Amino acid sequence: MFYFCALLLFSLRLCYAVEIEHPLNERVFVNHETGTSFRFPYDYSMPDQYGQTIVKQQIQWKTEQTKNGPVKRPYAAANIEIEHFSYKRSELPIEQHTATLKELLAQQLQAEPLNDKEYVFYREDPLLPHRAEEWAPAGICGWEGQIGDRYVYIVEHGAQQLSGLIFRGDIAEEERRSISDTFEILAKPDKQLPSTWRCYKSRRKYVYNEAGALEFAVRAKRPKVWKNAWQVETAHFHISALCSPKQLKKYCIHLEGVYAGLQQYLPTERPMHFKFEIHMTQTFKQFLALSDTILGPNNYLHNKNTGGAYGGYFNGQQLATYTFTEKIKNTRLEPYLQLAHEVAHQYTFIGSNYNFSMPGWLNEAIAVIFESGRLNKKDIFVLKPPSSRLRILKRYYKEHGFIGNIQDYAQGTGLSNVHQYAESYAMLHQLLSEKEGQKSLLEFWQGLMAGQNGTKLFYSLFLKERFGEQVEDGMKAWQKDIVSYVLKGRADSILK
Ligand SMILES: [Zn+2]
Repeated sequence: MFYFCALLLFSLRLCYAVEIEHPLNERVFVNHETGTSFRFPYDYSMPDQYGQTIVKQQIQWKTEQTKNGPVKRPYAAANIEIEHFSYKRSELPIEQHTATLKELLAQQLQAEPLNDKEYVFYREDPLLPHRAEEWAPAGICGWEGQIGDRYVYIVEHGAQQLSGLIFRGDIAEEERRSISDTFEILAKPDKQLPSTWRCYKSRRKYVYNEAGALEFAVRAKRPKVWKNAWQVETAHFHISALCSPKQLKKYCIHLEGVYAGLQQYLPTERPMHFKFEIHMTQTFKQFLALSDTILGPNNYLHNKNTGGAYGGYFNGQQLATYTFTEKIKNTRLEPYLQLAHEVAHQYTFIGSNYNFSMPGWLNEAIAVIFESGRLNKKDIFVLKPPSSRLRILKRYYKEHGFIGNIQDYAQGTGLSNVHQYAESYAMLHQLLSEKEGQKSLLEFWQGLMAGQNGTKLFYSLFLKERFGEQVEDGMKAWQKDIVSYVLKGRADSILK
């Protein structure tokens, strides 16, 4: 049995982030350049992946009298906004170089401080290990307080780096404090890259539980239910999982390999600031149960015709990938493959700052590039061609010819059969094998990140000239080219 990929981009309601019924529901902001990080609950959304602000909409309701009686209606949405900032004193006007933290903030926010409090960064609290003096860099001092209608935490660290969080809107003190408690300054132990405390511990075979307490993975008992799932952090991922520690470590390396590969094909000029969310159960049964809490009961995963064939999905509303690690007999479902495939979708959607207009077939083609990649003996991620998909495609082409409808593909639609994933891959492979192909792909990605319409842009960059005046003839000719490209085995090489 082949498998489908469920790419759920129903995030037209993106700003209304959903609450999920399990305790592992926080995301991680990290800025490796300024060396700062903080965590926040899932009900906040990130309007800009390259930005430093998160928001939560609080819908207010009013009751209206109608013919059918009173009806409750939303009438306003008040935002809570949390902004992360970080800059060097030397970047400020010269008269501010020696200002106190309080004076600096007052000038920048153009309001008067309403109180005066030292922000005590270092803490001896087992639940806030990133604030312990033995972990956090030395010499951090800070200020916190109300300035006008905002509440601000600021610290000075490193070489006169000023970083902190500004809270705007009607946020409960408890929530504000619980988020600001997670604020941390990345440390650089063992001469490695600066990392969060959790990322460092994850590299050293530790996992942490929902309360944030550490367990040494080698000795820990494998969790059975989702609320006890383990978490780990890598440089670009926050993963919660039920699988064995040994497996989990491999997955972390694999994921970072996929991420690096994606950066090579589709580079982002600036770093994204929110770690990718990955949720992995051990068994398919657990995956279904967890998905029911997110997608609702009787969702498509239970469909007898296709349900057993889903190995995971990227949920565009939550911006999270869900998958499982069990190998299911007599299927081609394979955990590493599925995870890499979904992460590619996660990357193109999040990296393009939620641009929905990438042609569907192209989105699948890019996911197929990464799904067959594996770690070599040195644990380095290397790409491999999707051989079994191509084998089936060749067989299909010999008997039936081209599967999809080029016209639909050109419109960004027309993906209904799983074998079209291989066809999509072959189409991209063929386009990139041509002169200027790589350059056009880069131009396409940059346009997508800038918010352009992906379908139109792809057409103008790759297809317009090819199809020429006689569009229909041009399409037929391209279709023929692809079939012959595949049958000659030219798509069998790793896509460069
Ligand atoms: Zn897919």
